[in-house]
Amino acid sequence: KQEFVEELIGLVGEERVKLDPEAREKLSKDYYWYSPVLNDLLKQKRADAIVIPSREDEVPAILAAACRHRIPVTVRGGGTGNYGQAVPLHGGIVLDLSRLTDILEVGDGFVTVQCGARIKALELELRKRDRELCIYPSTYAIATIGGFVSGGSGGIGSITWGNLWDGNVLGAVIYTMEEKPRRLEVIGDELRNYIHSYGTTGIMTQVTMRIAPRTEWFQAAVQFPDAESAMRFGERLARDDAIRKRLVSISEHPIPTWFIPFAKHFEPGATVALLEIEDGTGEAVAAMAAEYGGKAAHTIPADRYQKTLGLSDFTWNHTTLWALKSDPTITYLQAAFHGTRYLEQMRLIKERFPDEVLFHFEWVRSAGRIAPSGLPIVRYRNKERLYEIIRYFESVGVRIFDPHTFVLDYDARADYSGMIRRKKTNDPFGLLNPGKIKLLG
Ligand code: FAD
Repeated sequence: KQEFVEELIGLVGEERVKLDPEAREKLSKDYYWYSPVLNDLLKQKRADAIVIPSREDEVPAILAAACRHRIPVTVRGGGTGNYGQAVPLHGGIVLDLSRLTDILEVGDGFVTVQCGARIKALELELRKRDRELCIYPSTYAIATIGGFVSGGSGGIGSITWGNLWDGNVLGAVIYTMEEKPRRLEVIGDELRNYIHSYGTTGIMTQVTMRIAPRTEWFQAAVQFPDAESAMRFGERLARDDAIRKRLVSISEHPIPTWFIPFAKHFEPGATVALLEIEDGTGEAVAAMAAEYGGKAAHTIPADRYQKTLGLSDFTWNHTTLWALKSDPTITYLQAAFHGTRYLEQMRLIKERFPDEVLFHFEWVRSAGRIAPSGLPIVRYRNKERLYEIIRYFESVGVRIFDPHTFVLDYDARADYSGMIRRKKTNDPFGLLNPGKIKLLG
């Protein structure tokens, strides 16, 4: 609508309203193509315009105009989501918030920051002030803090501090999608209606995250003769509270052979544990690993932390990325294995799908419990076979958070009833990222 476009230009200036096909193509996409299923569904989707505010007060003005014209609004941070979270299903505008980058306050145990701040820039700034983020995703170089809270789950640090729902998000400023948008300061349980909500219940302009005192982190890649030994070691380390850690990531053979920059350090057939542990604990961890047949393959000293390619660049969904670079037919699942029965579950799955499923785990503390969070790699044949594999995982007690759907409430991670109630009050015309919630009715 020409009238709406003119209004947008009046609000943020011509430079910050992109109408050209290249910008609309580029900024309407995220990493949905990790899923061949989503790739087919989403590759044609585009916004009609991209709007890039540079001040918080422009956000409610844009929302008010979009609401009056009944234009859908899909927010974008860094655009690194894997499920098409930031892909507009019904056109309208993509609201790119990556220019809202101010760090507003660093306090005792918290940082308040504008939503578009890149997570790595924030982490580096905190480390200069002898603090650090408690959790962040492996995409931290590109991802924004608002995108992580609205579209992610956990990451580096989750082995100690849990995921987004475990007290790591302390507050948020949210704007509603109404003709007169309300500015909400959200804290406590109410945050559950906004965490991992894909921007369907409101637009986040500020977020307050839990932070911790700075630790010096030593990185070690340890190789094991088989996946079971590596997993037993991973569990022991994960449960050992005397050793501070940020990362315990296990990838079975042949996944480590796809970690091209580091693959030369690994013996043929090795399963590899990628660790971030407190500097000075390397010997204790090496001794622990030796009990399970583990040997150090490569280490990175603490003074190189976050300055070079790090081991976290091969963990979480970066593991899948390296695999995809070598074999484009690969895809993945997100799977919550049982905290103590995981070896049995692994054996059953391996028996059934010896070559099609390759194990990759991140040890995490979820809702206070240590558990192996699986991001197994799957060799993709077709959708039917993929869902056959999913059903088998479920039949042996592994919960699947399906990464092959863009529908938020198909994912069992959160209670969506509150979110749906909030959606109705905050977005009465259903304009925020429409199509992402199915239970709306
Ligand atoms: P975007 O992709 O831009 O947005 C994510 C969702 O949030 C979208 O629905 C968007 O509409 C919404 N949104 C963004 N900003 C706002 C806002 N201000 N207000 C309201 N809604 C908003 N995820 C993890 O949790 N942990 C990982 O370790 C991890 N590793 C990954 C590795 C790779 C290689 C890839 C491709 C993805 C990975 N992801 C991971 C998924 C993704 O990177 C993270 O969720 C990331 O934090 C998203 O941030 P972003 O700024 O790119 O968000």
